[in-house]
Amino acid sequence: MPTVNFLDLGATYRELKLEIDEAVARVLESGWYLLGSELEAFEAEYAAYAGTKYCVGLGNGLEALQLSLLAMGIGPNDEVIVPSNTYIATWLAVSHVGATPVPVEPDINTYNIDPNLIEQAITPKTRAIIPVHLYGRPADMTPILRCAAAHGLKVLSDGAQSHGARLGGIRVGELGDATAWSFYPGKNLGAYGDAGAVTTNDKDFADRLMAIRNYGSRKKYVNEMQGFNSRLDEIQAAILRVKLKYLDDWNLRRKRIAETYFSVLSESMIELPRPTPSVDPVWHLFVVRHPKRDHFQRELSDAGIQTLIHYPIPPHLQAAYSHLGYEQGDFPISERIHETVLSLPIGPHLSAENLDYVCSTVLSILGR
Ligand SMILES: *Cc1c(COP(=O)(O)O)cnc(C)c1O
Repeated sequence: MPTVNFLDLGATYRELKLEIDEAVARVLESGWYLLGSELEAFEAEYAAYAGTKYCVGLGNGLEALQLSLLAMGIGPNDEVIVPSNTYIATWLAVSHVGATPVPVEPDINTYNIDPNLIEQAITPKTRAIIPVHLYGRPADMTPILRCAAAHGLKVLSDGAQSHGARLGGIRVGELGDATAWSFYPGKNLGAYGDAGAVTTNDKDFADRLMAIRNYGSRKKYVNEMQGFNSRLDEIQAAILRVKLKYLDDWNLRRKRIAETYFSVLSESMIELPRPTPSVDPVWHLFVVRHPKRDHFQRELSDAGIQTLIHYPIPPHLQAAYSHLGYEQGDFPISERIHETVLSLPIGPHLSAENLDYVCSTVLSILGR
């Protein structure tokens, strides 16, 4: 029986081994490991890729969100609108600056924040909206940006799952005030360790972030604010520069796998993602829904196929947010999503044979 891993990260290294080894050796031999020429080059290259003027490399995706909120002047007594259906990091960034996350339900067809429900969540304390381009699918940004402009709110996108995604041909990084990115190893653009960044067209905001990531200092030993240590190191920056060159190609491989899933599974009883014209996802995850998800997952696992759940418990039901007082039933669409979703294997190194095996196994399980 074949075994199919959800994602083969080692294969990403093996494909690019020569170039990555060269990049890592170059940094090690340079004698300069933080805030140097590799980071500067990566920032310029990633800003160009995202379609913005500035990119600030940071320690990870959570800090990219959190330090952005800080640089926007958001803190205690402020409210920030977040999706109820997201990875918990989106909420944590808001709480870590002392503000309150205000959850808004997703659209069941896109799994992304429902723009029609944002207006009613706005209060005099609301300062910003964080749309998440979940699973690699761009959020419905046009109405979100319109609503934010009408109420004077900032829009900080969580792009952790959406490197390269487009909306109406426009790169998601071009939309809103800023986009926070994660380069966690499993993301579409992944480092071999932790890394993150923020892209923006706002020079003052980018300057503030540069100081915040380095102890509040732009000039050594001169501290204009109480900053943090959140730096994208030179080794990871050099690795990301190599991997960035392959991102579009690897996203295309993900798209081909998604197309195969669509063509093979379209008549089956599982709920597939719903494509929308003009929305160009990058298939960070291929998420299906099944009413008996746990049973379905067990049968796949028995056949040697590893699947994951993104995510099993919504943030409002996590112990970490018990103080907000939410209960089961408060965000029924999110809860339904969390109870029924399953992510099938997808990635640039999923072989054709393994993909065939996943497809035929899914069909045989569903036909039973
Ligand atoms: C991965 C992820 C993050 C956090 O990124 P890290 O680099 O792991 O801190 C934030 N938001 C979403 C939606 C993510 O998927």
